[in-house]
Amino acid sequence: MVEEYLKADDQGSGYVLTRTAEQVFYPLIEKQLKVDPIDVNWLSGGSQDDPVIRDKALDLVKRCYENALAFLEDIDVWEVEYEATGMLPGCEVPVKAFVDIVGEHKKHGPVIVDWKSGKQKPKNNLQLETYAALLNTSTPLSGNDHPFTDHGSLKFDVGLWAMVNPDAPNARPVKGLTEVDASALGARYQAAYEQIKKKVWKAQAGFHCRFCVQAPNCLIESPGTKRATYYDRSEDEGYPF
Ligand code: SF4
Repeated sequence: MVEEYLKADDQGSGYVLTRTAEQVFYPLIEKQLKVDPIDVNWLSGGSQDDPVIRDKALDLVKRCYENALAFLEDIDVWEVEYEATGMLPGCEVPVKAFVDIVGEHKKHGPVIVDWKSGKQKPKNNLQLETYAALLNTSTPLSGNDHPFTDHGSLKFDVGLWAMVNPDAPNARPVKGLTEVDASALGARYQAAYEQIKKKVWKAQAGFHCRFCVQAPNCLIESPGTKRATYYDRSEDEGYPF
């Protein structure tokens, strides 16, 4: 809905969303019903005792959307879903990155924005730091400048977690992104890549397993089942269970 809203503005039709939340939401529901007609089986937010489903989910969509629009009031949006994929020093593979919003904030100047629909902001700023390193120091894979950095002279120092969930506290701006050490970051990604090459998969079971489509195939979440025993080859392939 946010992207549709911004596109409408881009085409000069003003900030007008032509479809209501219901018109956006119901076709998605219809599609999902074909996969599993029992909607309470679907993954959902909220707690297990009080899942965010049905009317509650639609209501949350509306409230998140309102918050997103309020957030955008202060930003001149330059790019949506901008591909900042590029090389970082010391890392032999490109780091993939798609930045939700790149633009100029009324108060903070050039900003990198990442939408967050959960109630908590991320535990660390790695995602924003990576985006900043890619925008501030690296050449995108296309070899051209980023279209908005004025040949590298414009730097991004501030990142914003755009907390759209009405129950989430606002997150403070993440400042000092021009100080991010791109070489240290590159070394960190390279170290992860070395692990991947050695086939060391550090599976960390946790809350996210609830949302993982591989759970039925994973021995951590489905220990001893015929299916997980068949599909989960991590022991043969390197992961030290
Ligand atoms: S269910 Fe298994 S594969 Fe999925 S996130 Fe959890 S540990 Fe990883």
